[in-house]
Amino acid sequence: MASLDQPVSELPKVRAAELKALQRLGLATVRDLLLHLPFDWEAYGTPVPIRAVLPGAQATVIGSLVKIEARRSMYKRKPMTEAILADDSGGRLKIVWFNQPWLARSHHAGDRVAVAGLVKAARYGSALEMQNPHLEKVGGDEGPRRVGGLMPKYHLSSGVTSKKIGELVEPLLGLAGGLEESIPAQTRQRHRLPAIADAIRWGHKPESTEQWRQARNRLAFAELLELQVAFLRSRRELESEPAAPVPYVQEVIERFKAGLGFELTHAQRRATWEVFQDLERGIPMNRLLNGDVGSGKTAVAAAAVAMVHAAGRQSVVMAPTEILARQHLLKFRSYLEGSFPDLRVELLISGLPAAERRRVTTAVASGHTALLVGTHALIEERVEILNLGLAVVDEQHRFGTRQRELLRGKGRGRPHFLAMTATPIPRTLALARYGDMTVSVLDELPPGRTPVETEVVPPAEREQAYGLVRREVAAGRQVFVICPLIEESEKLEAKAATVEFERLKADVFPDLRLALVHGKLKDKDAVMRAFAAGESDVLVATPVVEVGVDVPNATVMMIEGAERFGLAQLHQFRGRVGRGAHGSFCLLLSDDPTEVALERLQLVARERSGFRLAEEDLLLRGAGELMGPRQHGLTDQAMRELLNPLLLNEAREEAERLLAEDPELEREPALLRAVTRRLEQMSMS
Ligand code: ADP
Ligand code: MG
Repeated sequence: MASLDQPVSELPKVRAAELKALQRLGLATVRDLLLHLPFDWEAYGTPVPIRAVLPGAQATVIGSLVKIEARRSMYKRKPMTEAILADDSGGRLKIVWFNQPWLARSHHAGDRVAVAGLVKAARYGSALEMQNPHLEKVGGDEGPRRVGGLMPKYHLSSGVTSKKIGELVEPLLGLAGGLEESIPAQTRQRHRLPAIADAIRWGHKPESTEQWRQARNRLAFAELLELQVAFLRSRRELESEPAAPVPYVQEVIERFKAGLGFELTHAQRRATWEVFQDLERGIPMNRLLNGDVGSGKTAVAAAAVAMVHAAGRQSVVMAPTEILARQHLLKFRSYLEGSFPDLRVELLISGLPAAERRRVTTAVASGHTALLVGTHALIEERVEILNLGLAVVDEQHRFGTRQRELLRGKGRGRPHFLAMTATPIPRTLALARYGDMTVSVLDELPPGRTPVETEVVPPAEREQAYGLVRREVAAGRQVFVICPLIEESEKLEAKAATVEFERLKADVFPDLRLALVHGKLKDKDAVMRAFAAGESDVLVATPVVEVGVDVPNATVMMIEGAERFGLAQLHQFRGRVGRGAHGSFCLLLSDDPTEVALERLQLVARERSGFRLAEEDLLLRGAGELMGPRQHGLTDQAMRELLNPLLLNEAREEAERLLAEDPELEREPALLRAVTRRLEQMSMS
């Protein structure tokens, strides 16, 4: 008999390819397999006579094969299997399987089989037809065991089928009783959630879709609850440490505003106010500034730096690349140094001349520097900050938890912490992903921006797109070309970008100055700097490359293979143009777009709010796309449930209630264990 911890590799009848696929799905043990519920079901109903089936409906029928043969399709010569099924009702059903020639070897005329699938009017003649139905041989007068009724659809990885997963799980269902129940009994009662063992059985073998729904709901609730308890506990731990309060001084903000040269937007004022309130408390701020590209996050951070400086403390700002760090240096200086003459801003990046490095680190260690801006060098090199009051991380998703922690540990005691992200995150996701932080939203762009004109360019109009590029360059402007996303391969991406660069240079723009930047390049920053300085006209880049730079002279963002990107991501790219005084364009190119893909791209063309596009992504592609796969170990089922903010809110409230009643979870050891596991995962990410 199997046990919950038994590796799936020890289960009978698992082939090597299947094992690999299971591993890719994160299913290593029997426990994992049990917890991996189908994401949907196909309802084929109980078997019906062929005479009774209707085109357009799903059906299960049992009959004898009159004939079955492998052949090739008429036009494209693709392998296929054709069969005729007859039953006692006198009906005949034509069946076609594409790409499964072996079926004709393993089945023969006279075999009794059950098939389940969608019934269609036949492509030729008047008979009815099923394409690619599920198939099972059945003996004498038995019914089918797996085909028909409710058939599970599991998340798959190539190499394993839903049918196979169903077969593996079925004999293991008896072990569900041994799974640990992490949801406290009173919580289950309050929310009418089934026990874990029932949920697992219902999830894999429901008698109704309602049972299946309840099962999924219950598992997702457990995950969200564990995660929210984990967030609340890490938050509580943070808040148990003191942080030096930064008193609010009206005069500081007045001077700051006077020196800016523009009016803060409503959203910026609200966020600044929220930050000041946090800073005044004697516990460390832990806030996320969630704002669209160009919404002016830097100014909010600068206001905080000014207040912290007035309280006699220092700040650091960490950016993911040198060029961003340099741009921050300039921006912070322009926002601050005019109004606060004694507020010194310095830059620390790797590769500074030794003397300069020494000067900067000494100034910081003596407390003389109010704001130190830099890259990873801030945490990698030996930098001591005398009196750190505030740590800011820009593009925080580019850093791991450990790196953020290292930055926060640069001074003595806990600094206040502000994270900035340029990927607008819908509220529910922010709660699921950054539930230990409080969130300020910048959902408003400063006035006077000309919207970026966005167009979907069909293959036939590629030449026109190149024409636009030419005209803009002739007018003295610059252009980004983003190459297609290639799943998980920086190497292939770099190669593809190089090929595209060579092609553009040789065939399309031989007269323009082209530059290339990709992840495998040693001196990415030098290329970016040269582009920012106007030394090239067209920058061909891979998507992974940081284009978060400010190049006001760039007016065209041309995105190849646009259909492969998320909507929010396309919006990010678009935010790289339209930063200067000139009208700008975003061209979404797609060589072979499907109808659905075109619709998505049109949405980007119409919609200017990054938040709304992110929400749309969430609906269309699921949370996994926005959060990165397996973020914090959430399963697909929990991710999907994130679409339903109610469940997340309930989990959050329940977490608060449980911790209020039993702060150390002494009465809920199983929940505590689950939460501890999640906290460990988080600190590793
Ligand atoms: P992001 O949120 O993408 O980091 P930035 O802070 O870089 O945005 O700001 C984008 C640009 O908008 C900068 O040039 C900045 O000076 C300008 N800006 C910021 N806030 C305002 C405002 N309230 N009014 C006008 N311009 C602003
Ligand atoms: Mg920014």
